[in-house]
Amino acid sequence: MNLTQAHSALKKYFGYDQFRPMQADIIQSVYDGKDALVLMPTGGGKSICYQIPAVTMDGLALVVSPLIALMKDQVEGLRANGVPAAFMNSSMSSSDQTAVENAALAGQIKILYVSPEKLVSQSFQPLLKRIRISLFAVDEAHCISAWGHDFRPEYTQLKFLRAQYPGVPLLALTATADKLTRRDILAQMDMNDAEVFVSSFDRPNISINVLPGQRRFEQLEAFIKQRPGQSGIIYCLARRTCVELAEKLMAKGYKAAPYHAELPSALRNKIQDDFINDRTPIICATIAFGMGIDKSNVRYIIHYNLPRNLEGYYQEIGRAGRDGLPSEALLFFSYADVQTYRQMFESGEASQEQKDLKIAKLNRMYQFAEAPVCRRKTVLNYFGEAYEDSCGNCDICRNPPKKFDGTVAVQKALSALLRTGEKVGMNLLVDVLRGSQRREIYENGFHQIKTYGAGKEYSFDEWIYLLSQMLHMGLLEIAYDEHSRLRVTQSGKDMLYAQKQVPLALPPSPKAATKKAEPATRPVSQTQQLRQELLDRLIQLRKKLSQQEGVPPYIVFSDVTLHALADKRPLTDLDLLQISGIGERKLQRYGDAILNCIREFVMEKVEGGQNLSGSTYLQTWEMFQQGEPIEAIAQTRGISPVTVISHLAVMYERGEMIDIHQWASPEELDIIKGALPLFQEPYQMKDIFEHFNKRYDYDKIRWGIADWKRAQKFK
Ligand code: ADP
Ligand code: ZN
Repeated sequence: MNLTQAHSALKKYFGYDQFRPMQADIIQSVYDGKDALVLMPTGGGKSICYQIPAVTMDGLALVVSPLIALMKDQVEGLRANGVPAAFMNSSMSSSDQTAVENAALAGQIKILYVSPEKLVSQSFQPLLKRIRISLFAVDEAHCISAWGHDFRPEYTQLKFLRAQYPGVPLLALTATADKLTRRDILAQMDMNDAEVFVSSFDRPNISINVLPGQRRFEQLEAFIKQRPGQSGIIYCLARRTCVELAEKLMAKGYKAAPYHAELPSALRNKIQDDFINDRTPIICATIAFGMGIDKSNVRYIIHYNLPRNLEGYYQEIGRAGRDGLPSEALLFFSYADVQTYRQMFESGEASQEQKDLKIAKLNRMYQFAEAPVCRRKTVLNYFGEAYEDSCGNCDICRNPPKKFDGTVAVQKALSALLRTGEKVGMNLLVDVLRGSQRREIYENGFHQIKTYGAGKEYSFDEWIYLLSQMLHMGLLEIAYDEHSRLRVTQSGKDMLYAQKQVPLALPPSPKAATKKAEPATRPVSQTQQLRQELLDRLIQLRKKLSQQEGVPPYIVFSDVTLHALADKRPLTDLDLLQISGIGERKLQRYGDAILNCIREFVMEKVEGGQNLSGSTYLQTWEMFQQGEPIEAIAQTRGISPVTVISHLAVMYERGEMIDIHQWASPEELDIIKGALPLFQEPYQMKDIFEHFNKRYDYDKIRWGIADWKRAQKFK
């Protein structure tokens, strides 16, 4: 197996021209028989990393996936691209399971998704032994870690894979990147020799914004109003909020629905289905929603309440814009939410250690919302990714707060921390800096260190604010597994010794924080308007096709593909294959429908010009069918006879019956068609006319081309 084969499979099945950074390396490592841990953000393109090896290697790839809805979605997507895929889980009837088993045994399946329960079950083992496995992929691998936020006990039983199937490459994939989880996955899966691939977790297409939580509904409505018809998810903390919010939005005329765990499952499925199929664009949900949804054209994620930690937050906003098109995240921040969580955590069942961990993570969440640091830089640093620049696509970057030179404050904080032996948490560090008389200070002898009391110029709250910024900048880190003590990071040390300037900000006055940036409305040019019109038609067509096929619209074509179609307006099969997301299967299945839609549009709006009502060439066709001669049609319609012929030729290409021999003999047509391979599409009639030394007129050439295209289509 080599990467050339991987590339052709990428084009053939998925219609993509290039691998994204890392995908090719990961695929190569699978081909080399090695294990790998893959960390990529949601929408980063993890699936391709096992799907391409699966379709190119011998045998069947087994993919462990925790969510039934997700399996179904993946399988639908694969089948739409012509990849033989199936899934198996305990919710299926046993006859359905047997059918899948038989297909797997007969070698008719390249990718089989199974739930972890199914995979470890006794009943599955004989099958596993009898099929040839090309690779194991464990999706959402963070579920194995008790440190993670989605711990699933069944995952810890997957250890047996490594021991019992030596030589079969094992791929663990996740969008949760923190170091603890990473270590845990490797240890628990026994993946001792695995290569670890960590891609950037940046999702540059998602604009990140935070607004203060006052008057949320008004702000929310203003936001939604400006984005008509777009799909979005609004996350709320309480079920009651979901329901009330959805009702308020519906009362204002928006298509919205609530979604939470208490709804009957049939209703939940329907709501999810309506969202996926673009029937209900807005969902007000608790975190229960979205886990199993791969819908690639979610355009915005709103957090009506503060999420409980940055892992969850980032995963949730990651559900926007998987297709890579511009998308938005909007978070409403209020301290009341922080309090609610604190009470919730304190009164919960968990051990004190677990509670502390939750609170520490919550603190980082609200510090993120508060800190005047580029949002992207903050989250990425939280996940251990150094991000130097400012992103330019968050509210802070667009509307930066007033800064001061914080070099001295950083030096004081970091050196005080180092002098305590990095044994203190944030509050105690501030107490040291401010020369507090607390008992712990004396017990630990911190009153004797040189920096004790060196930071009296800032209040306690101001220090917390400044330290959060240092955390966000990656100068400090919190060791959650060691009683949340603070540590100076390597870049903190570098900063300290290099005496580099560090810009910091003091807490903004509450007034300044409520200011809101108004989105600019852009003037629309005529070309943009035309493009939008075609896009709207394509969206309608996609909807129709999706209903016919019984799959969600984004499985038929992603928004990226629709945009590319609207931009490039392909007119032939070959042009279509150049469009990202159109592989062989989709060309075969939808090619004609798409080409007809675009041709019709081009004739009406671009070539036909004035004729804006109905299709100009359909009118030509109608008159022709009524027996009108070409000349008469041209005269009545006010177009040239050549145009009349070209309209008819398109109808002929599309499969209408026309006796074309009245314009060109079979021999002439053969000669013209024989020369076509010398030219490139789109054919220039003039070139072909010259090629034959003007022997055949334009009508004959036009019919030659039409006959050839028709033959291609109906061969
Ligand atoms: P993840 O599983 O990491 O969340 P997916 O595998 O679903 O991400 O990929 C996200 C989107 O990016 C999908 O629409 C996918 O088809 C697309 N994609 C993945 N790899 C490529 C590529 N090499 N070129 C273009 N699009 C890609
Ligand atoms: Zn930014």
